[in-house]
Amino acid sequence: MSDLRISFEFFPPKTEEGREKLYKTREELQAFDPAFFSVTYGAGGTTRDTTANIVCGLSKDGVSIAPHLSFGGDNEEIVLGLLNRYKEAGVKRIVALRGDVPSGMGSVAQLVYANELVAFIRRHFDDHFHLEVAAYPEIHPEAESYDDDIRYLKGKFEAGANSGLTQYFYNPDAYFYFIDQCQKAGLDAPIYPGIMPITNFVNLARFSRNCGAEIPRWLKYRMESYRDPEDVKKLGLEVVSDLCETLLEGGAPGLHFYTMNQVAPTANILNALGVEPSAV
Ligand code: FAD
Repeated sequence: MSDLRISFEFFPPKTEEGREKLYKTREELQAFDPAFFSVTYGAGGTTRDTTANIVCGLSKDGVSIAPHLSFGGDNEEIVLGLLNRYKEAGVKRIVALRGDVPSGMGSVAQLVYANELVAFIRRHFDDHFHLEVAAYPEIHPEAESYDDDIRYLKGKFEAGANSGLTQYFYNPDAYFYFIDQCQKAGLDAPIYPGIMPITNFVNLARFSRNCGAEIPRWLKYRMESYRDPEDVKKLGLEVVSDLCETLLEGGAPGLHFYTMNQVAPTANILNALGVEPSAV
């Protein structure tokens, strides 16, 4: 399994202490030889500088790292400025998104669909960037229908995207059916499953309600019956490792981990899959 393509996602920390922890996490996860790291972006520009500073700093140090990017309420000049900064810092990959308006910013100008951002990047930078886009095996919560969501995903690839990273999910059938439907719609680009380790179930359940990720009923009931956080982590590791194994055996092209800026939850899953860190 050493040629497994993996990638690790971070969020930009708000404090100096958080930044230090992130750099340490990045160094430790490097031992798993990821294809790239990525750093999320607050649509509306809330993390514009923090995301860009982390990405540009690490990229200049030779780390393969991709910023997430969306127009949010920004104009073309601002987005172009950011993209130029990324190109100068040696960044080769962007995760292109529509994003969501952060709560409390209801008046942010209309969101720009991800396919338009992909087309914008291709228009200005040709093939310089490898473009990742978001995909939703359980379907985006605002989608008008299953078929529409697939059609819009295909539109992102027609605009120039190279590969997809999915929202997390715990039901492998949702992913396999989705890939099948994509292929039937003529979409053959690789779509990497997004993997969310389970550590804190209360937080996960709340977040999942917002982003439309389904937690299987049996898992919810079992997790909610635990009083000891260690039991949650133990079952979480077992369930998510099994999920990864099933996905890879079923033909998933690799795995994209939502690390929550922590080493252990992701490293434990990789160890369970037989992926050992190398000495770096
Ligand atoms: P789009 O692909 O633009 O789709 C949004 C919705 O509109 C869908 O329902 C789709 O069916 C519909 N749609 C798409 N195109 C059209 C069109 N042309 N006309 C009409 N309807 C259309 N959020 C952040 O704020 N920051 C991040 O860093 C971040 N990173 C993420 C990383 C991954 C891997 C994933 C899966 C999600 C991430 N998100 C992030 C969440 C994401 O921004 C939200 O799910 C957002 O609501 C949709 O973004 P999108 O790029 O998928 O949108």
